Amino acid sequence: MKALQARSLVLLHHHLKALRLPTITAECEKLARQAAADNADHLTYLLQLCELELLERERKAAERRLKAAHFPTHKTLESFDFSARPSVNKMLLCELARCEYIDRRENVLFVGNPGTGKTHLAIALAVAACARGYRVRFYRLTELATLLMEARDERGLLGLKGRLAKLDLLVLDELGYVPASKVGAELIFDVISSAYERISLIVTTNLPFESWTEVLGSERLTGATLDRLTHRCQIIETKGESYRLHDAKARMRAAATDKTAASGSARQAHGRTLEGGKTSN
Ligand code: ADP
Ligand code: MG
Repeated sequence: MKALQARSLVLLHHHLKALRLPTITAECEKLARQAAADNADHLTYLLQLCELELLERERKAAERRLKAAHFPTHKTLESFDFSARPSVNKMLLCELARCEYIDRRENVLFVGNPGTGKTHLAIALAVAACARGYRVRFYRLTELATLLMEARDERGLLGLKGRLAKLDLLVLDELGYVPASKVGAELIFDVISSAYERISLIVTTNLPFESWTEVLGSERLTGATLDRLTHRCQIIETKGESYRLHDAKARMRAAATDKTAASGSARQAHGRTLEGGKTSN
């Protein structure tokens, strides 16, 4: 009987491997013992195993999507301090995290000074999209411009554009830090045009619209780019001072308060010592 059981197990593992069900392979014996102890019927046991396999598959797929997105850091809406950035509507961001704008092929544009949380919010929305099963890719704009120019030189442009077209959401971070070359600007414009109404874009920029011509080089290109990007688009302004500065100031204030408190208690302790000195005299 024992020998037969062992043989069945070997066969079972073999079949499960052939069927590519690694979680069921790993869990079936433990769960079978549990099911016997709980007097669970066969269908309940099978259901539990299938659920485990599906959950693990979904977890791994989400992990792969996050990796494929190439985020420079991991950010979430939960770690964003909305009270420090009142110009950003928390309700709107929570709604965007539900990703319906991606189904509608709409865009999101974050405009604001450096350090005001544009990249943080762009990544947070894109991470939420990964979790919901959308295919996402993050690029700093200059990085994508360079890649496009290299691909063009090596005749790989079609391949790269094909990969971009397969995405659901493309994040272009930092439009405007470095003026793109004329060719780079044309190629970026081409990406934005191809994305128009096919895939969603999230763009962050520290430039007001009037200054986009300086980056993209020509008024014609700027007009056409803005036209496509801002048609059916949520524009979110991150107004105010840099969060790093705000953070540093808060830390300095906290340190100053600590210092005052420390010198206060030192004075008190000193006073007590003097008093103590007096009484002992
Ligand atoms: P930007 O892209 O506008 O230059 P970042 O998103 O890179 O700014 O923000 C700079 C740093 O400050 C990041 O580490 C970011 O996580 C943090 N940060 C900015 N705003 C907030 C905020 N409101 N709450 C929490 N962290 C913030
Ligand atoms: Mg940024």
